[in-house]
Amino acid sequence: MGHVFSNFHGLIERLIVSKCPSCGRVVKYSGTLCPECLFEYKKERAKICGVCRLPAWECICQNENLLSPKEPSLNLRSLVFYDYENKIFMNLLYRLKRDTDRGAEKFFARELAAGISKIILEKSESCRDWRITYPPRTKNSKRKYGFDQSEGLARRISKYTGVGFEKDVFVHKGKALQKTLSGKDRAKNAKSSYALSENADVKGKKYFIVDDVVTTGSTVGSCRMLLLKAGAAEALPVSVSKVCRTAKSDEKALRSLPQNAWFADKKAEKGKKKKKN
Ligand SMILES: [Zn+2]
Ligand SMILES: [Zn+2]
Repeated sequence: MGHVFSNFHGLIERLIVSKCPSCGRVVKYSGTLCPECLFEYKKERAKICGVCRLPAWECICQNENLLSPKEPSLNLRSLVFYDYENKIFMNLLYRLKRDTDRGAEKFFARELAAGISKIILEKSESCRDWRITYPPRTKNSKRKYGFDQSEGLARRISKYTGVGFEKDVFVHKGKALQKTLSGKDRAKNAKSSYALSENADVKGKKYFIVDDVVTTGSTVGSCRMLLLKAGAAEALPVSVSKVCRTAKSDEKALRSLPQNAWFADKKAEKGKKKKKN
């Protein structure tokens, strides 16, 4: 009888075990990174833009391929600068698109929720003053992956922040995939491929537009203009990452990161100390 019981417990443990969405190591809570990956992620967040010398969340430099200079600044906020050489970050992005356990989605949604809440607080506003929406994927890409990762992020951020989620604000009507086009063509294509959906009621409302990776900014840029032209009071794009060719490590910020991070497993630390003795 005893072994049946312990097997049962083993099974339950296996069913609810959570893994680091970047490296797959076992972690305590779903949607958290293991200490090593979290440390690397924090290093990415500390990287600064070579032009304004600010980290990705504060840098609002405009991509040169972007919308015409007459249009207002995009004011795009992102968690990190896109870096295809960073394995941990690329793993997270990959899992965000494909993983069914949604660990990467939970992680990024929590990070974005913190940033969004801070923006709202700084304006002395309430989460009830804002909405969250997203630029929808083409039907083909949604079919390929089974879901829309920006929609997933937006829904979860709404859950974490209390900011209302609005689903069908934009419709995708273009056929050309953004990925296959050059920068200027992307801007043109994005402008023609999104429209406000017929029953969208955006007048006087304030929106966060959530996307995963922003390359030229043409997609979130065109969605932003659609909202503003239709009378929305505000439209702020936020994303997991954005491309910045001049991003580099900020040595000072890196040095200020704790070497023995507070999130390191305390039991493991004690073990190390005992070994030393
Ligand atoms: Zn990890
Ligand atoms: Zn910048």
